[in-house]
Amino acid sequence: MPDLKKDIPASIAVALVAIPLCLGIAHASGAPLLSGLMGGIIGGAVVGLLSHSQLSVSGPAAGLTTVVLGGIATLKSFPAFLTSVVLAGILQLIFGKLRVGGLSRLFPSPVIKGMLGAIGLILIMKQSPHLVGYDFEEMGVQEFADKAQDLEDDYPGAPRTGINTVTLLALAFTHLDPGAMVIGLLSLATLYLWEWKVQKRLPTVPGSLVAVALGVGLNQLLAVFKPEIQVTGKHLVQIPELSGGLITFPDWSALANPQVYILAVTIAIIASVETLLCVEALDRLDPEHRFTPPNRELIAQGTGNLLCGLIGGIPITSVIVRGSVNLSAGATSKISSISHGILILLSLLVMRGGLNQIPLATLAAVLVHVGIKMAHPSTLRRMMGRGWSQVIPYVVTALSILFSDLLIGIMVGTVVSAVFILRNLHVAQGLTVNRKGSLIQIELHQEVTFFHKVRLGSLLESLPADSTVEIDGSKALSIDHDVLDVIEVFCQRAPQKNIKVIVGGIATMSSFSEKQKAEMQAEYDQLLANNRAWAEDCQQKDPDFFYRTSHGPKPHFLFIGCSDCGVSADIITAAEPGKLLVHRNIGNMVSLHDMNLMSVLQYTIDHLVVPHIIVCGHYNCGGIRAALSTDSFGLIDNWVHPVKSVIQENQTELAQILDQTQRERRIIELHVLQQIGHLLKTPVVQNSIQKLGIPRVHAWVYDEGTGKITDLKSQLHLSEGVHPAFGFQHPAQKNAEISSTV
Ligand code: ZN
Repeated sequence: MPDLKKDIPASIAVALVAIPLCLGIAHASGAPLLSGLMGGIIGGAVVGLLSHSQLSVSGPAAGLTTVVLGGIATLKSFPAFLTSVVLAGILQLIFGKLRVGGLSRLFPSPVIKGMLGAIGLILIMKQSPHLVGYDFEEMGVQEFADKAQDLEDDYPGAPRTGINTVTLLALAFTHLDPGAMVIGLLSLATLYLWEWKVQKRLPTVPGSLVAVALGVGLNQLLAVFKPEIQVTGKHLVQIPELSGGLITFPDWSALANPQVYILAVTIAIIASVETLLCVEALDRLDPEHRFTPPNRELIAQGTGNLLCGLIGGIPITSVIVRGSVNLSAGATSKISSISHGILILLSLLVMRGGLNQIPLATLAAVLVHVGIKMAHPSTLRRMMGRGWSQVIPYVVTALSILFSDLLIGIMVGTVVSAVFILRNLHVAQGLTVNRKGSLIQIELHQEVTFFHKVRLGSLLESLPADSTVEIDGSKALSIDHDVLDVIEVFCQRAPQKNIKVIVGGIATMSSFSEKQKAEMQAEYDQLLANNRAWAEDCQQKDPDFFYRTSHGPKPHFLFIGCSDCGVSADIITAAEPGKLLVHRNIGNMVSLHDMNLMSVLQYTIDHLVVPHIIVCGHYNCGGIRAALSTDSFGLIDNWVHPVKSVIQENQTELAQILDQTQRERRIIELHVLQQIGHLLKTPVVQNSIQKLGIPRVHAWVYDEGTGKITDLKSQLHLSEGVHPAFGFQHPAQKNAEISSTV
């Protein structure tokens, strides 16, 4: 609920500060002084009424002075310039209707805070000269480097060029005005004392009103007791006379000038950005945490500027300084802003004489007081606590605004902030590093961007010599080219430090060098070339060869071998193509759970009626070695598990073989014999043997050292048969038994 007891005094405080600011900005903009006050009236009464912001105050903005000055100079007349302001207002209305205001959420938080800090510092630095009576610069200028029109004319001897915030501050302390300084410093002291001791008891009286009243009173006392230092003339508020009339109408003939439109777009964009920044910043300062709808704000501002153009005001935006004064004077609702607009109008019509008694020094004290609050070091300390990604954009924004102007500073700050936002997004999640002894595993995450390049690069560089690094990109959906380059260069250099690199899951690269890749391709190509040569050779030697092998007899042998045996079955037996039907797996396993082999078995026995099944192991078998090892190899552990039971079942015999190699060879033989046992336990083999007496089963071991095969038939005790528990009966045999019992 609006609290009029607080809003009305606050509105007086804002109006008192706003009047010299409106005049100063109008002067700096090269516009008639009254057009500044008109902007203040419309910004308060009209925008205040339409806006949904409760604390924001609108009026002529320091950030637009350059544009206004340039615009009036280009169009060579103020009424022509007003036409641009009308168009800018219409554009802002369109922005609001198109709902572009939502883009204001893109301003990063450290940038908004940096802006508040910078404007605080600017207030302190720019108002301090006024505080001590050096009113060379117009009130309300915010840019770092001053221009001629920012400066008062009647300062004889003062430099007209090379003036900026810092040099002006230095000049001020060599040009102290004793009367103004006394008033300014006492006003500042009053503001602090009031806030410290009285404010709680008199919450509806803003300290700034007390300070201004004191300033005026002090000056009256000086007039009586020390007239030589009384503050007069340019050191006082100077509301001009209404002689020429307040209202100026736009010159519509300017619509024919294309410059009018360019200017309108510029004003609309700058005014909208400044407004959105200010309401966003004020919303953050609002103790009641109210939210200002940005598109509604653009419509309010557009209406305000449309009206400014129509009746002679300079363009307006929401302005942070007056908003902050409003807040610190205790405003609770937009009644304060609306009322401040009406008060500016009244000041022109009826209160001009009284207001022109106010020393600028006392108003400067009010602004310095607000500036110190805005640029309080506690914000910087809070930002420091949040890390570099917050503090750097904050400081960069603040310094850029301080040393250039608001919009440039915001742009620089937003770019810096965006870099940190992107970096944070990706660096934190780019990769995970696991260290297991000398093995370093680097797992790349879903998005690996340019920002991870530095981290990955320094990580790879820091790897110790003789280590092994696994770079796993299987989870990465996208990997930046720069990152791929880093990995590729590392792969090339790794051998120098004897680092073994295993790159997996990155489709576009492997741990192989370009030379190795070329060799692999050549090897592959050779394979196909060999095939053509072989086919032609066969054809030449035996023109019927391929006809015979493709129409020849069925295979006579099912050969069950090991996948990693170096030589294939038909080579070691010199079998004619088609004679052998080959099945290979790791460790030449016969498992009744292996659907692949069981299907092969059924097909070869039931359909091909193969007379021989050979299970062929080989010495130096990697599968058997895996089973003998205590290391884990993943899924292979499960597959070769039966070999471990061979060792267990034959431990007495194996214990007597002391030679490691001989022991391994024996295990391989025993393992082959066990596979024959499994073969005989399958129903399909049992049925076929019962019915046809075939297949005959054979246990072989191939010696890779000699190329010779050993047939283990002397150790095959087929006569012992299979244990009754594993026995199956052929259906025909079963029927015969049933009929014989009947
Ligand atoms: Zn093997």
